[in-house]
Amino acid sequence: METPERALNRWIDKPSHLAEILGEDLSHLTPVTARYPMRISRYYLGLIREAGDPIWRQAVPDPAELEDTGDSEDPLAEEKQSPLPNVVHRYPDRALFLVSHQCAMHCRFCTRKRKVGRTFFIGKDDIRKGLEYIAAHPELRDIILSGGDPLMLPDETLEAILKELRAIPHVEILRIGSRIPCTWPQRITPRLTAMLKKYHPLYLNTHFNHPAEITPESTAACGLLADAGIPLGCQTVLLKGVNDSPEVMLELMRGLLRMRVKPYYLYQADLAQGTHHFRTRVETGLEIMQALRGYTSGLAVPAFVIDAPGGKGKIPLLPGYCKRPTRDLVRLRNYRGKISYYRQVKKDAEMEFPETVDTGVASCGGKH
Ligand SMILES: *Cc1c(COP(=O)(O)O)cnc(C)c1O
Ligand code: SF4
Repeated sequence: METPERALNRWIDKPSHLAEILGEDLSHLTPVTARYPMRISRYYLGLIREAGDPIWRQAVPDPAELEDTGDSEDPLAEEKQSPLPNVVHRYPDRALFLVSHQCAMHCRFCTRKRKVGRTFFIGKDDIRKGLEYIAAHPELRDIILSGGDPLMLPDETLEAILKELRAIPHVEILRIGSRIPCTWPQRITPRLTAMLKKYHPLYLNTHFNHPAEITPESTAACGLLADAGIPLGCQTVLLKGVNDSPEVMLELMRGLLRMRVKPYYLYQADLAQGTHHFRTRVETGLEIMQALRGYTSGLAVPAFVIDAPGGKGKIPLLPGYCKRPTRDLVRLRNYRGKISYYRQVKKDAEMEFPETVDTGVASCGGKH
């Protein structure tokens, strides 16, 4: 049977090994992997078509990772919002519970580069303390297993955690964040999904960044999860040289829907040290959103968000569809640029509020 231990033998974690397979001299990558460990699953490596392609860029270390750009190792201030080393409690009713620091591939753009793939494992004690914290906080109704990748744990270990979480009355929903359906789809077995389906309502957010990741193998993995009744979402990261064009993103989003995966978030790249070469400007993301909405199924359109520096949370961004030229008039621009006006109900005099009300939509509010 496929176990994480066995698959380890097939992972590539040294530039010399990678050089052998790819037939290229990669000795210049050794200093990079000394700082940020490398790991690529055999399967994911097999998706590379040529040096520098979108799969390569995500998987193969780059000397640019070592350039000191003055960026933070922890741009989202996760450590400050961690009551325990492996719990991030930023929002009122939900928290991240980090249960593994390993992944089937160590993405070169990872925002948690400071942790992921480093030698330390999350011990039984830390898992126990995390469970105690969650049990002691009745406001936590949504627990997101994260890491690293929770599916790197053996089925039995993962099940023990899920079982304990399910026994906490105030935990309504469980979520797993996992890139494994994309990077190591063979890990998704009928045995795993039969176990997961015992812990519903359980959601899984996976992570695909390029249409070339949509293969018969990843489609089968998502199919098994969906057949187990697990609603699937995708958290894509907008990456320069990988998916920073409307055409690529449209193909990816449509491909995800065919696999029964609902695009959930599209992230602006975080300001993490060692990842600057992946960043696009915010306008690129807005152009992509503009090219998706209206031109394809609404189901295929994720929310474009910036995870605000300093741990301020996810902020949605939209191309300017909505303005308010007068107090009661809302000016709407459709996806093709056609304008219409919506006259809204008069404000209740007692509910008077400032003219520049924030309607929650980019460039909305104020007079234009
Ligand atoms: C993203 C995130 C969540 C989940 O946010 P949702 O918008 O509910 O998906 C929770 N906690 C932290 C720290 C996060 O970064
Ligand atoms: S799978 Fe997620 S946590 Fe793991 S290295 Fe990639 S981005 Fe980071």
